[in-house]
Amino acid sequence: MRRSRWLAAVLLLVPALLLWQLLRSPAPLRLVTFNGQTMGTTYHVVLRVPDADKAADVQAAVDARLAEINRSMSTWDPQSELSRLNAAPAGKPVAVSAELYKVLAAAQHWSRATGGALDVTVGPLVNLWGFGPGGERRTPGPREIAAARARSGYERLRLEPGRVTRTVPGMYVDLSAIAKGYGVDEVGRLLHARGYAHYLVEIGGEVVAAGERDAGTPWHVGIERPEAGLPQGAELVGAVPLRRGALASSGSYRRYRDEGGQRRHHIIDPRTGRPTQSRLVAVTVWAPDCMTADALATALMVMGPDKGLAWVERTPDVEALFLVDVGGGDFAQHASSGFVTE
Ligand code: AMP
Ligand code: MG
Repeated sequence: MRRSRWLAAVLLLVPALLLWQLLRSPAPLRLVTFNGQTMGTTYHVVLRVPDADKAADVQAAVDARLAEINRSMSTWDPQSELSRLNAAPAGKPVAVSAELYKVLAAAQHWSRATGGALDVTVGPLVNLWGFGPGGERRTPGPREIAAARARSGYERLRLEPGRVTRTVPGMYVDLSAIAKGYGVDEVGRLLHARGYAHYLVEIGGEVVAAGERDAGTPWHVGIERPEAGLPQGAELVGAVPLRRGALASSGSYRRYRDEGGQRRHHIIDPRTGRPTQSRLVAVTVWAPDCMTADALATALMVMGPDKGLAWVERTPDVEALFLVDVGGGDFAQHASSGFVTE
């Protein structure tokens, strides 16, 4: 009798130990990947999920969320909230969604912090040089540039809680420098809200990471060699272990046109109304969130490698890698003190 009671106790203990072991050791995880089209480019998601989780409806939710952001912020959709704001009469406050307001407010914040290097009101200039919707790439004359400059300037875009006023007729806001990063953050937030702790989200080269690729192994993000004509990601100059936060890149080597020995690309220096002129061909920025990294990558392309690097060093929570064309197909790498590559 005594013996069988012991036996029962041991038998009970064994399943309890097994259960404890099961709970203690993490469930086996595997990677699920999916991709699609958004914001005129592609997106990729890599998700580390428990074995039993098929993550079946996650992609549909991601697609729906990205479509929603596009309906708010795209200048390529004439019906988007932003296109309607751009078409509204100047001088009148327009009520905007919380989401659009948040991105506009972030853009204005970084415009002030970068001395106007980032300026989402450069839209008329982007369009003039042919890098906007339906644009024809050409070199405009000085008068046209002056006229487009008169319709831009972030200080002329007024924000008050929930409302936006374009104070100059013909003002045109273009969020292409920041919206992809916001989209990346939002997809990350969606995955987090669904209980996922390990993921990598990328839209057109802008990336956010959470958790780890494998136990003890961080996600790694490659930095491509900024050479025109190379297929995307074909050659890397290094890889960044992304333990937290986001990476975004800007460059003058993908969307451009050469004319008379000068490269006309899609990043406009708001102070001149012309594409930036420097040997800086690409910048990659680390920041805690991808909207910030995206905005700053564009701003640092405008600032150039020297002023840009000094700015990064005195700004907390931002790191950057500048790739400068030194001729002969070589690139010099200038990294801020906390930028880690492997
Ligand atoms: P990104 O690829 O993030 O560097 O964004 C570049 C896009 O932002 C361009 O295609 C333009 O539509 C727009 N853009 C160009 N120059 C600027 C600027 N100085 N500030 C804000 N947006 C800009
Ligand atoms: Mg950007």
